[in-house]
Amino acid sequence: MKLTILGSSSATPYLDRHPSSQLLSVNDHLYLIDCGEGTLFRLNDFSIKKNKIKAIFISHLHGDHYYGLMGLLTTMSMHEKTDELAIVCPPRLKDIVELQCEISKTIIRFPIRYIETTMEYGEIYKDSNITVNALPLCHKIDTCGFIFRKNFPPRKILKEIIDQLDLSPQEVAQIMKQNRILKDGRTVTIESISEENTSTKSYAYCTDTRVDPSYQPYLLNLDLLYHESTFLHADIKRAEETNHSTAREAAQVALAVAPKKLLIGHFSARYIDLNPLLSEAQEIFLNTELAIEGLTFEF
Ligand SMILES: [Zn+2]
Ligand SMILES: [Zn+2]
Repeated sequence: MKLTILGSSSATPYLDRHPSSQLLSVNDHLYLIDCGEGTLFRLNDFSIKKNKIKAIFISHLHGDHYYGLMGLLTTMSMHEKTDELAIVCPPRLKDIVELQCEISKTIIRFPIRYIETTMEYGEIYKDSNITVNALPLCHKIDTCGFIFRKNFPPRKILKEIIDQLDLSPQEVAQIMKQNRILKDGRTVTIESISEENTSTKSYAYCTDTRVDPSYQPYLLNLDLLYHESTFLHADIKRAEETNHSTAREAAQVALAVAPKKLLIGHFSARYIDLNPLLSEAQEIFLNTELAIEGLTFEF
């Protein structure tokens, strides 16, 4: 899995910092997470093929998370996208998109499948590459984070055994399908040539939210956790008023759920230098990085 940060600013963009958007790449399939204003330009800046995006996940309907969507959809349509796009989003986003299309007499020429989030934890999207769970957060309006897990085959083939038994790819496929075959008078079973696949790859996107114990149990055993850190802890009053988190609080969440790495983002425009936010988080959870635009994290 590969995550590229396209935007990491909170409501007010600042200089070269743009509103929230990230691109997750899994086996060359692309998934967009939030779509703040200007996301289309960020995709162009990083030479990302927009029409390869399979699904867009929108956390909530504050503008800094979806104002870039109309421009992106109409551009994809003009670039002759034909296959279906899934949009996982709060209820009413469909109304917003359709109203804008109706008033501007715009036709989006590819099918959109809207999948509405509810404020309940659970599986919300699945395809051949990934399974995604929605994670209700604690913000001013209904907001869901998302937990992305790469799909792996249920069993891992043991290559040395395949070589020892001199099995052809066709024979291996047959065993995986039928559980056993007869070869040279001997039964070869699925258990003898493969083992349970315990591989996992996972990423959780948590924005915008006050820290709260309600969502933390779902964040265990992650490879990568993104948690918003809009403010420094010195500004916790502002964080409480606006239902956001501080860098120290994001790191405390990471300390409790122990991901391999923590990314912090959704920075307030009041901070010109982001290093104090990073230092504050690293004091509690050392393996923390800033979600700076253009950075890519492979895991
Ligand atoms: Zn926001
Ligand atoms: Zn918000």
